[in-house]
Amino acid sequence: MSQASPMLSVIVPCFNEAEVIEHTHQRLGQTLEAITPDYEIIYVDDGSRDATPELLRDIQAGSSRAKVIRLSRNFGHQIAVSAGIEYARGKAVVLIDADLQDPPEVIAQMVEKWREGYHVVYGQRSERSGETKFKLWTARAFYRLINRLSEVPIPLDTGDFRLMDRAVVDALLRMRERHRLLRAMTSWVGFKQTAVLYSRAERFAGASKYPLRKMLALAADGIVSFSAVPLKIVTSVGLAFSALSVLGVIYAIAQRLLTDNWVPGWTLIFIAVMLIGGLQFIFLGVMGEYIGRIYSEAKDRPLFLIMEELGFEEAGRAAGQGDVFTVPLQSAARPGR
Ligand code: UDP
Ligand code: MG
Repeated sequence: MSQASPMLSVIVPCFNEAEVIEHTHQRLGQTLEAITPDYEIIYVDDGSRDATPELLRDIQAGSSRAKVIRLSRNFGHQIAVSAGIEYARGKAVVLIDADLQDPPEVIAQMVEKWREGYHVVYGQRSERSGETKFKLWTARAFYRLINRLSEVPIPLDTGDFRLMDRAVVDALLRMRERHRLLRAMTSWVGFKQTAVLYSRAERFAGASKYPLRKMLALAADGIVSFSAVPLKIVTSVGLAFSALSVLGVIYAIAQRLLTDNWVPGWTLIFIAVMLIGGLQFIFLGVMGEYIGRIYSEAKDRPLFLIMEELGFEEAGRAAGQGDVFTVPLQSAARPGR
């Protein structure tokens, strides 16, 4: 019953979930009670416009395990979860949707894996009932594309339903970027990761809060935040264009010298257009390289993360050294318990 730092924090983002939230709390509470009495549930109300805030207030009043934070407006799922992570104090933190599409019972398996020493245990959907063909297809295409482009692979068919060790949570807290795709960020963090398979249920009630527009925005975040490929494409186009322009120049000169098929002044203009076109693309590419670097500096992610230190005295790193870049060890070397 340690109020200070519970074993398990569960974060539930809620946006207009009045229809499900009480049922969710009941089922989640029951499930967690069976795993450990030492847990907290953090509900993050993401600017709901229905009765969700009042219902959450009642839930909190009725249970010392429940905590509620209410955002000032709708900031979006990923930000709501990020807010919850800041408030979570558990040694392990679980992210779960409010709509019971991710069965709370799976958390028991996640905790088990965590106790075996894994730092991230993500839920991987083995089947998804009650989703449209379109949603399945777009989700699949999204993961394909992102894994093509991105510097870190995101496991197929995973959402945000996952357990994270405190070491990973602390690392996430150090990643202050504004465009956040948590499932990609936890993948970037590294450490020991594993999956538990589950079948994704239908929404218990209410409608999806993820229209196509939000899904596309999420996909764009995933690609642009984890890949410089779009910028690099510009350089390649520039090089290709320059190569073409050399051919064009040879063609123009040949026309001028070997045939009568030319207009006065044409050769020079044509050569100028070709060369400058190619040069412009190359310079854009050069700018892109710098912008890419500014972008990655601006994200200000930790330079590296440490999972384990062996053979060092108490202090580990020399005091003050590397503090800027590394994430302190804490539970990293010894997850669980
Ligand atoms: N959600 C949120 N803010 C939003 C949209 C959604 O906090 O702007 C929450 C929502 O309440 C739910 C979770 O994010 O707990 C996932 O949303 P949803 O079930 O609508 O997405 P789907 O399962 O359809 O992808
Ligand atoms: Mg859902």
